[in-house]
This record gives sequence, C-alpha cells and structure tokens, in this order.
Amino acid sequence: MKLRYLGTAAYEGVPAPFCRCRVCRGSFRAGGRALRSRTQALVNDDLLLDFNADTVCHSLMYRISFDNVRDCLITHSHSDHLYPMDLEILSDPISHEHPPLHFYAGEDGYNKIANEIGLHRMEERAQVTLVRHGDEFRTAGGYRVLALRANHTKETTPLFYAVERDGKRLLYAHDTGVFPEEDYALLKAFGRFDLISLDCTGCLGLDWDWRNGHMSLKTNLEVMERLRAEGIADEKTVFVAAHFSHNGGQTHDEMVPEMAKHGILVAYDGMELSF
Ligand SMILES: [Zn+2]
Ligand SMILES: [Zn+2]
Ligand SMILES: [Zn+2]
Repeated sequence: MKLRYLGTAAYEGVPAPFCRCRVCRGSFRAGGRALRSRTQALVNDDLLLDFNADTVCHSLMYRISFDNVRDCLITHSHSDHLYPMDLEILSDPISHEHPPLHFYAGEDGYNKIANEIGLHRMEERAQVTLVRHGDEFRTAGGYRVLALRANHTKETTPLFYAVERDGKRLLYAHDTGVFPEEDYALLKAFGRFDLISLDCTGCLGLDWDWRNGHMSLKTNLEVMERLRAEGIADEKTVFVAAHFSHNGGQTHDEMVPEMAKHGILVAYDGMELSF
C-alpha cells in the first residue's frame, strides 16, 4: 500500500495568509517542507482521503490527474476537509470518461455532497454513501473500511478511518483529539496496523493540553501507548504526525528532532510512504 500526503496543514495553511507570527515568518523564509497546504492524502492511486479546497491545486502540484480515483472518504465537513462546491468539476461533460466517484461521509458531509449532486443533476457522475461510526464497509474500489468516532466538533459529524487492502492496514486519524474509548475495541477487532497517521495540530504541545478536538506530540504519545498496549500497533508500526497549525508553535525543522526521539515521522506535503 502507498500513502501520499498531498497536504498536511490545518485550515489556515502554514504559513497562514495575513499572519506574521514566528512560525509563519520562519516557514516563509525556510520554504520547502515548511510550506503546507490543507490536509488531503491519496492511498495508492485510487482512494482519496478528503476533498478540500486544495484538491485542484494538489492535482496540479503533483501532476496527479486523479484519473484512477474511484473512492473518497470524507472525515468531516470542515472546509479544510470538504469543499463541496468543487464537486461541480465532476459534472462537466468533458470529464464524463471518468467512472463515477464514490464519496463516503458522516451526516453533515453527506448532506452537503448530496445537495451538490442534486443541484448539478450529476447522479451518474458522483454518488455518496452515509456512514456512521462503527460502520464497516467495502468501497467501490475494493477497500475494506472501518469508520471510527472522532473526538472533534460534533456539528461536522466527525469520523476517522481504518483502511485495509491486500492484508495491509492504514489508520488515518485526522481531525481528532485523544480517541473515544469505544474506538479501541473496534480497532482491535479490525487488526494490527502497518501505518498510523495521527492528528498533530498542536505540534509539540508545549503550551496547551491539545486533548479534545485535536492532538499534539504529548497526546499522540498517550494514544500510541494505548494502541501498543491493545496490540493495535507494534514495534513495526510506522507512526506519522500530520495536520499542523501555526497555533502549535513550531516549524517543520523544529519538530523533526523532537518527534524522532519517539520514532514519529513528521509529514510534509508530497511525502510518500510505502508499506
Ligand atoms: Zn482539519
Ligand atoms: Zn502564523
Ligand atoms: Zn476539523
């Protein structure tokens, strides 16, 4: 399985436009891996994780046409994860050679996507399935998926996802604070994970708890310990931190050595991992 991070920032991006904070100024100066667009990822070449306002930009930046994408899992309806107005792109008659795109989303995202599909009468071009936490399903493209309850803004019906194909398992946990207790039993039943990507909006978490809504290195370590204790992760599991905000307080280069002490990789835009 292959995971490619297309974007690794929270909604404001890093550096955030109009911001003159230390992290944003430092990231502007540094360039390269310090520059982050909004969170989105691609599994292999056919499963998109989230559909945000940077989707078009990601296709151009990485020269990925998304030709092979069959499925798109939506974590929740915040704008850095779902930008429904861009679904209209799929309604263009010129793009009719693309097979229908299958979206999977919690209630709020489902309603927004279904509304767009209805508005543009594009039922042949895109479909959406309502997902509830605890649901296990197989996508049109053949992935086994489990939806977990996320510890995040309730109005956005937040979920995060476990994904399996060919015996390999990925846990993609953005945006969430420390996992709700009920998730651990579901994850344990799903199987041991090869790669776990954790929300780390709060970066190193030096001046804030980052327990609910989002996490930081400190709370990532707590979750990692529990995942290992439950056998959901082991010493071979790769851990990655992503979805960073300037509010966390550190630039990419400031996070790397600290995260490395705990065996955590710091995601950057364009990072590709095979497992
Ligand atoms: Zn987010
Ligand atoms: Zn800033
Ligand atoms: Zn969010």
